[in-house]
Amino acid sequence: MSHDEFFAEMRQQGVEHLGQVRTGLLEADGNFSILLHTSEKTDYGMPLFPKQYRPVEQVEAGVYYACMYCGYVDEISDPNQCCPRCEDNCNNWAKALNNHIVK
Ligand SMILES: [Zn+2]
Repeated sequence: MSHDEFFAEMRQQGVEHLGQVRTGLLEADGNFSILLHTSEKTDYGMPLFPKQYRPVEQVEAGVYYACMYCGYVDEISDPNQCCPRCEDNCNNWAKALNNHIVK
């Protein structure tokens, strides 16, 4: 499954960012099942909508950012720094979200 398809599936299920998702599973029939975090356990995560899924050019202290390739979330000090999880495809970070899901 490509990144775009994966994002589209999440969006169709009402997910705004990956911190809202506890686990996801691709079913044999091609459908995608997800389990969501409860409101209290919503984490910081990579945004899934184009408005927020944009590389930052400056970082702010005390703010979490998500690697735009793998979704790894961390506080970063340089907008071009490498993601420790996907070293080869690093250096694009979007501001991570942690708002609760609303359905
Ligand atoms: Zn990464």
